[in-house]
Amino acid sequence: MEKTKCLIIGAGPAGLSAAIYTARAGVPTLVIGCAPKVAGDYDIDNYFGFPETISGADLMDRGLRQAQRFGAEVRCDQILGLHTSEAGGFVAKTVSGEIEARSVIIAAGVSRNRPNIPGLDRYDGKGVSWCVSCDGFFYRGRKVLVVGERDYAANQAIELLAFTPQVSVCTGGKPSQISPDYAARLAEHGIAVTTAKITALSGDPALTAVTLDPGGEQAMDGIFVAMGQASALDFAATLGLVRHRDFIEADEDQKTNIPGVFAAGDCVGKFLQIGVAVGEGAKAARSAIRFLKERKEGGTLGGPSRTG
Ligand SMILES: Cc1cc2nc3c(=O)[nH]c(=O)nc-3n(C[C@H](O)[C@H](O)[C@H](O)COP(=O)(O)OP(=O)(O)OC[C@H]3O[C@@H](n4cnc5c(N)ncnc54)[C@H](O)[C@@H]3O)c2cc1C
Repeated sequence: MEKTKCLIIGAGPAGLSAAIYTARAGVPTLVIGCAPKVAGDYDIDNYFGFPETISGADLMDRGLRQAQRFGAEVRCDQILGLHTSEAGGFVAKTVSGEIEARSVIIAAGVSRNRPNIPGLDRYDGKGVSWCVSCDGFFYRGRKVLVVGERDYAANQAIELLAFTPQVSVCTGGKPSQISPDYAARLAEHGIAVTTAKITALSGDPALTAVTLDPGGEQAMDGIFVAMGQASALDFAATLGLVRHRDFIEADEDQKTNIPGVFAAGDCVGKFLQIGVAVGEGAKAARSAIRFLKERKEGGTLGGPSRTG
């Protein structure tokens, strides 16, 4: 399994800023994330130091190269799941493998996708779940549907097999973007994939059936929502991080309630701006560096940077 001291989830302003600090302090740093939404042809007018404006793409490219200059490895991949490890650290599952980390900075932005299914809210917690590690146990031996169109959904479906063999995947009307590798794994486990729309949920008080188009009404005990890619909230749910509304709760040093896990940027939901994300990334990095230092984990900690 690949190992790193500091895993940063997200290659946006918060994640790259954090990587500049951790890598520059000598902490082996791996950033997993692809170009953030802002890395396009958008004029950024309010970020410090660019009087002529700068495009989002250019700003992100500069941040990326700066983090790489200090030795951070930045890889465009998806984290499908994040758990604590028996060794006392953390294990992240990606599309291409697994990573063990001693500390994690979550900088995944805001991205939880809610599918447009009539009645979804009504069944939240009564048949609709967002987290296999949290709720899979309640569906032992029962019939469940994972709603999602990418590898995250495929991985959630495979994880559900630990609780029940009656698992299928529904993309909810979207074209399937499940990779050939994950499609083969689903087929190997006998997990069917449908691209049908979900037009209705029914049951009282809890979910007992879904209506698919095409497909009609089918008995169903549970739905696990896993649209798009795993979000900061999904990581929070599996690790047991305290949340406030749709965001991760972090203190002024970007520490979460779990030692070794830090959160920065839009996913903590303060003022959703680049300048704030960059500042919080720096603070999260400082906290991660201190955490590793206290545990004597951190490579050439100290170095030339003023990390506090
Ligand atoms: C079009 C647009 C224009 C904007 N204009 C401005 C502006 O002019 N000024 C300003 O200050 N702010 C602007 N913003 C807001 C600003 O972009 C955000 O506040 C900032 O990008 C937040 O940074 P972040 O690092 O927290 O998250 P993001 O930039 O959203 O980055 C999230 C990162 O997490 C990664 N990620 C998410 N899930 C996973 C997963 N499961 N596995 C691996 N990686 C994952 C993504 O790939 C991405 O790299 C704009 C935003 C947009 C969308």
